[in-house]
Amino acid sequence: MEETRNFIEEIIDKDLAEGKIEKVHTRFPPEPNGYLHIGHCKALAIDFGTAKKYGGLCNLRMDDTNPAKEDTEYVDAIKEDIHWLGFDWEDRFFYGSDYFDKDYEYALELIKKGLAYVCELSAEDMEKYRGDLTHPATSPYRERPIEESLDLFERMKNGEFPDGKYTLRAKIDLASGNFWMRDPVIYRIKHMHHHRHGDKWCIYPTYDFAHPIQDALEGITHSLCSLEFEIHRPLYNWVIENVSVPHTPRQIEFARLNITNTVLSKRFLRLMVESGRVDGWDDPRMPTLCGLRRRGYTGSSIVDFCSRVGVAKANSLVDIRLLEACIREELNETAPRRVAVLNPIKVIVDNYPEGKEEFFDLPNHPQHPEMGTRQVKFTRELFIDAEDFALVPPPKFFRMKPEGEVRLMGAYIVKCGEVILNDDGSVKEIHCTADLETGNGMPADGRKIKGTIHWLSKENAIERDVILYENLLTLEDPSKLPEDKEYTDYLNPDSKKVCHALVEKNLEEAKAGDKFQFVRLGYFASDTKDAKAFNRIVSLKDSKGK
Ligand code: ATP
Ligand code: MG
Repeated sequence: MEETRNFIEEIIDKDLAEGKIEKVHTRFPPEPNGYLHIGHCKALAIDFGTAKKYGGLCNLRMDDTNPAKEDTEYVDAIKEDIHWLGFDWEDRFFYGSDYFDKDYEYALELIKKGLAYVCELSAEDMEKYRGDLTHPATSPYRERPIEESLDLFERMKNGEFPDGKYTLRAKIDLASGNFWMRDPVIYRIKHMHHHRHGDKWCIYPTYDFAHPIQDALEGITHSLCSLEFEIHRPLYNWVIENVSVPHTPRQIEFARLNITNTVLSKRFLRLMVESGRVDGWDDPRMPTLCGLRRRGYTGSSIVDFCSRVGVAKANSLVDIRLLEACIREELNETAPRRVAVLNPIKVIVDNYPEGKEEFFDLPNHPQHPEMGTRQVKFTRELFIDAEDFALVPPPKFFRMKPEGEVRLMGAYIVKCGEVILNDDGSVKEIHCTADLETGNGMPADGRKIKGTIHWLSKENAIERDVILYENLLTLEDPSKLPEDKEYTDYLNPDSKKVCHALVEKNLEEAKAGDKFQFVRLGYFASDTKDAKAFNRIVSLKDSKGK
């Protein structure tokens, strides 16, 4: 297998070579407090992808140790999204909260070893006593006798005390340069209902204590996570070393995915949903996986994007146009071509008899003849896009203009005649004459026709909403949010534009999620909620410089 290794694979190669591990085992640990977004796909691709590459295993584990805000709706959605991307945990689906009994036992073990104590500092006081770079933290409760801590911890568990009255703290190093090592809290009192365990517990372990234990109990060899956990790694290792877990997992951090004009944070995305600024988690403008799916993105294009971004140790900002390029490339190959007229204006072909109809063959894909052709009906009354006509044409305008000739795609060449205007100056209808001699071939006299425009005959058109999207946010680099601003100050008012359009009649049969290229306009997907709408996934060309 001759290919380049990323830095995680280099570490794994070494661990395998040194006999530290036999089989790679990773996990993906989402917190079920929202829907997955495209950043999670990067983590999924690394967790599942690395396991697959080494013939190993990857677990799916709901990180539900924190009883707040968790919901089975999210658990189901997370599973659906992961399968949609093509990753599979097989029979290894777990909940972090299933280890609460073990967490408790390991906490007792630490107390008995003199490595944890019950502290009575309030949250504010703990902040006050945490010290700074030149002064150590302090706690008057650090030397509490083991027996007393055991007794208090049990009573904490039994619900004798209100929230915040006591905490259990690991006894590590109050002078550590790493503040996470200054006797971190590992258990807190929370009289809160847990979505799976009800009211069984009123003390809950912190993430930093529970996560390494979960990894160790599941036999995880490499616990891959994003960079913000790097500073927690010494604590992760301390837990593994000081409780008698059966395995020694190793944490490795990678850079988070950051994308231009996009905020990848469930908290922000939930705010967008709950404040009604978008139409739900699957609004096609959202960077959630369900939003991207509804927009028309395929799972494969998103995984392809993550693999092109690669795995690095340093944070960076990825241009959203790379994601667009991935779906464009895929759909350019696979999407059948169709015609849509976004802003229809009526065209009458004066020399074409009323009631007459003819059929022209249009290819479903110009580069893939095996995808066949379809017949489009030509009649006297047609529609073209308002953008393809100019009453006063700018230089080099080769579409329809007074006295000009233009090719109707796949059909006749027409010459523009009388233009009838509405009272407000807008175009009511355009009259033209067709060169009926040449059909869809070249003109007999060899004259050159520079422009080709798309069209629909009245009988071959149905009404549909075609929805054009732009970035939700106008702020290009989300890490550069000015201190006095919020992301909601940068919402793009033009992020959604609905066109009451005409589309080819055969699109009546389009099923939810079917994807097409609307010629000259971009790639579109039939909406999964509104059967009468098409979402633009991406335009045909990169919008750079627009
Ligand atoms: P958010 O801030 O959106 O809530 P999170 O990190 O809290 O994200 P979790 O559900 O806890 O979300 O994340 C599960 C896994 O996904 C973690 O291992 C985390 O490192 C990873 N992850 C989350 N966001 C990104 C991202 N933007 N890029 C890469 N990995 C990510
Ligand atoms: Mg989280």
